[in-house]
Amino acid sequence: MNTFIFKTPTSVDDAINLNASGPSRFLAGGTTILDLMKCNVEDPQQLVDISRLKALRDITFTQNTMRIGALVRMSELASHAECQRRAPAIYDSLWQAASPQLRNMATIGGNLRQRTRCAYFRDPATFPACNKRQPGSGCSALDGINRGHAILGGSEACVAVYPGDLAVALTAFDAQIVLRNAQQQERRVPVEMFFLLPQHTPHLEHDIAADEMIVAVEVPLSSALKHSHYMKVRDRASYDSRRPVRPWGLRCMAIPLAISVLRWGRCD
Ligand SMILES: Cc1cc2nc3c(=O)[nH]c(=O)nc-3n(C[C@H](O)[C@H](O)[C@H](O)COP(=O)(O)OP(=O)(O)OC[C@H]3O[C@@H](n4cnc5c(N)ncnc54)[C@H](O)[C@@H]3O)c2cc1C
Ligand code: SF4
Repeated sequence: MNTFIFKTPTSVDDAINLNASGPSRFLAGGTTILDLMKCNVEDPQQLVDISRLKALRDITFTQNTMRIGALVRMSELASHAECQRRAPAIYDSLWQAASPQLRNMATIGGNLRQRTRCAYFRDPATFPACNKRQPGSGCSALDGINRGHAILGGSEACVAVYPGDLAVALTAFDAQIVLRNAQQQERRVPVEMFFLLPQHTPHLEHDIAADEMIVAVEVPLSSALKHSHYMKVRDRASYDSRRPVRPWGLRCMAIPLAISVLRWGRCD
């Protein structure tokens, strides 16, 4: 890992301003960004540690909406009784993800911004060709082992898939991501619009500007959500990152199947 500047802002606006000031990344739970720095996929000059910002750690319910602060841990949301009762598909998508140790560290904002698990993307020393990592360099996966790559939504430039679970459930129930910028303005983006298809620019993954931070996710509460379920198809349910078969779902099957099951579950 290369050297970097480490900042510890005490407010959300400080954090946004610091991050906007140069090649920089937020550090939330650190379970993705530190991995990417260790395998030389990302090399930020600065990390802005937002993990202690209490303002983004609330889970609140109104009559129509569940609002989840960006720094709520996956395990905190999964163990929230109201989330389990009123949003079972979201609860299911959380407890089936990663391991208990990871869920205790990983945040909701960081989960939405995790990057692909394409093995070629994460091994720059062996596979220099990766348009997502280095635009214009090619795609090692096209002629490689691509069992876990995209059937739908890929392009000639990139066939990687998004590996997260939570975003699938959020998309099915029309959730919105709340972004805040350096001018203290907020905008809301539907989750399905937040994730960009690779097309000719696979290095651009999310609809988020350099001076924006995810501050919350808002989920409309509905009868459909209350009677929902999230189903994950994978090689096996147990977690063991040492073996060749990893815990992430077989995305090309899991995503459409999960959404279909959720849609069938509508009963209002
Ligand atoms: C072995 C392993 C198995 C896993 N299995 C699964 C799985 O089965 N399902 C699943 O869904 N996930 C899985 N994950 C991914 C895991 O859920 C993510 O690593 C985690 O959610 C990231 O959250 P974090 O808080 O640690 O993010 P960080 O590592 O701190 O940050 C990740 C990225 O998000 C950015 N970021 C963080 N917070 C914000 C914010 N508020 N606004 C804007 N940008 C932000 C950071 O700058 C960074 O680029 C797995 C991870 C590992 C290591
Ligand atoms: S599929 Fe995408 S992420 Fe994987 S090697 Fe090709 S360009 Fe890179």
